[in-house]
Amino acid sequence: MYFDIFKKLKEFKAQLPYLPRALGMVWKAARLWTIAWTLLLILQGVLPVVNVYLTKAVVNRLVSALGGGASWEKIKPALVIVLLMALVLLLSEGLRSLSTWIRTAQSELVQDHISDLIHEKAVSLDLGFYETPNYYDQLHRARVDAMSMPLALMENIGALLQNTITLLAMVAVLIPYGLWLPLLLIVSTLPALYVVIRYTLRFNQWRLKNTMAVRRTYYYDWMLTERENAAELRLFDLGNFFRNAFQNVRKRLRNERVALVRDQAMAELLAAGFGLLAMGAAIAWMMWQAIQGIVTLGDVALFYQAFSQGQRMMKTLLNNAGNLVRNTLFLENLFEFLSLEPKITSPPRTVTPKDPPPYEIKLKNITFRYPGSQRTALNDFSLTIEAGKITALLGENGAGKSTVIKLICRFYDPEQGKILIGDVNLRDTPLDWLRNQITVLFQEPVHYHTTAAQNIAVSNQKAEPDMTSIEEAARASGADTPIRRLSKGYETVLGKWFGGEELSVGEWQRVALARAFLRQSPIVILDEPTSAMDSWAEMDWLSRFRDLVAGRTALIITHRLSTARYADIIHVMTEGQIVESGSHEKLLALEGRYAYSWRNQTKTVKKQ
Ligand code: ADP
Repeated sequence: MYFDIFKKLKEFKAQLPYLPRALGMVWKAARLWTIAWTLLLILQGVLPVVNVYLTKAVVNRLVSALGGGASWEKIKPALVIVLLMALVLLLSEGLRSLSTWIRTAQSELVQDHISDLIHEKAVSLDLGFYETPNYYDQLHRARVDAMSMPLALMENIGALLQNTITLLAMVAVLIPYGLWLPLLLIVSTLPALYVVIRYTLRFNQWRLKNTMAVRRTYYYDWMLTERENAAELRLFDLGNFFRNAFQNVRKRLRNERVALVRDQAMAELLAAGFGLLAMGAAIAWMMWQAIQGIVTLGDVALFYQAFSQGQRMMKTLLNNAGNLVRNTLFLENLFEFLSLEPKITSPPRTVTPKDPPPYEIKLKNITFRYPGSQRTALNDFSLTIEAGKITALLGENGAGKSTVIKLICRFYDPEQGKILIGDVNLRDTPLDWLRNQITVLFQEPVHYHTTAAQNIAVSNQKAEPDMTSIEEAARASGADTPIRRLSKGYETVLGKWFGGEELSVGEWQRVALARAFLRQSPIVILDEPTSAMDSWAEMDWLSRFRDLVAGRTALIITHRLSTARYADIIHVMTEGQIVESGSHEKLLALEGRYAYSWRNQTKTVKKQ
């Protein structure tokens, strides 16, 4: 066991490098509060010692006063010290309340600081991170730790300091009876040290192994309680299924956790037994001394107090140290997450196109597969999107159309081939410049749970758009009419999270389209813009779309021929390849895939 203890101690110590970094974080987030907290801690550590001395003084004075018959004059000095003691007690109570307040302020600040670091990191990472469960595990661990860690850490350090002071005082009391007594005190707590280290490390391993299982319970909980799943859950009667799934995972986690704590309790009991044996031996020795008349019975009583308190303090200290390391182990997870780096970044030396917009976009021999996927989404794919024109990319689901958008926005980099914007490689442009050039109306746009006006304004935050331009964009996209129908028009909060009003899928899509129009960027990409519109609405806005994107490069992704036909040039895409290109008329004349589908559709329409 003692050989093992060194190995474990080493593992234990290896975790401590995170401590200075964590303390640095606390310091950065709450400087003044941390200074105040440290001062309070020292004061609180010293006060009990002051009280011990005052007690001794009171007892001494009382003993001498009572010796020659009590009189007011003799008792007075003792009463003054009693008064002083009362003041010290009052002061410690005051300090305790003060430190609760200071620690809360400090920990709230630290918590928010860490949350901010996590949020900053999360939005800076590549979309590719979302493809791996590992990322979710790391994020989960970092988030949970950010909430629980700071206060716990500060409490650990505080308790560690305060208890060390008390322990040192006890050791000082024991030394006069023999130097070996403090040594025995330490040896008697070694098994307890072993137990603390072993179970701290085991608990952390268990936690790491089960992060995904814990996340799974969060997922089931989310499925069971959130609005977005509520309708389908009821319709398919999935409530019991998810409840069982939740309970099954929880049962395993619960059992394992309880077993771990049970084993730890048993081990602690054995360690405590060893401590008691050591104490018994020490007391037997003291009694022997007393029998021989070397020490008094009072000494035995004092010794018993000091030794047992010392042992208790050692154990508390060990637990403090265990908790401290446990919390720094959690910190490791936080720092692991914070050290993730995005791969898609601006190069050291950036260039932008020589000519002003509109820009031509050229994809040359692109091969791309999603991170963690075996299948290529695009294989030796080439496409030119002409400057200042409307290009449609037409193809069935899964053809690779959305992938093209993601590559143009540089959410991912292709494995092979290159993408040119104007005359420069996309990879050589500054990333923020590139994203600024592009507006995308995504197939499933974000629903911002804020006012309708802000829902449109978000796309152009820098320009702080006024109501006139917001309304203009809404009229152009067809969002104006549904927004005016809402109880407070443009000031109505949308979505149900904060008591707002709900729009239909198609109406949300128009709001998102208004966002795209307001942004005024030289490249406009629409991913299935009409999927939730009926054919009348589709015709209504497609006819105005041309004016709106005049002078810009526009790309429409669609699987509808009726949408594609309005484009200047249509590329028909299937299984990651372009198979036909040309205007609507040219493609009809080609009598290929497009013409066949078109004839088929119009025939069906005529029949109806
Ligand atoms: P489309 O937009 O034409 O419907 P996508 O570009 O979304 O098609 O998808 C092209 C192919 O890439 C599909 O086979 C799809 O399964 C795959 N794919 C899409 N997104 C991912 C992803 N995040 N991870 C792995 N494969 C994906």
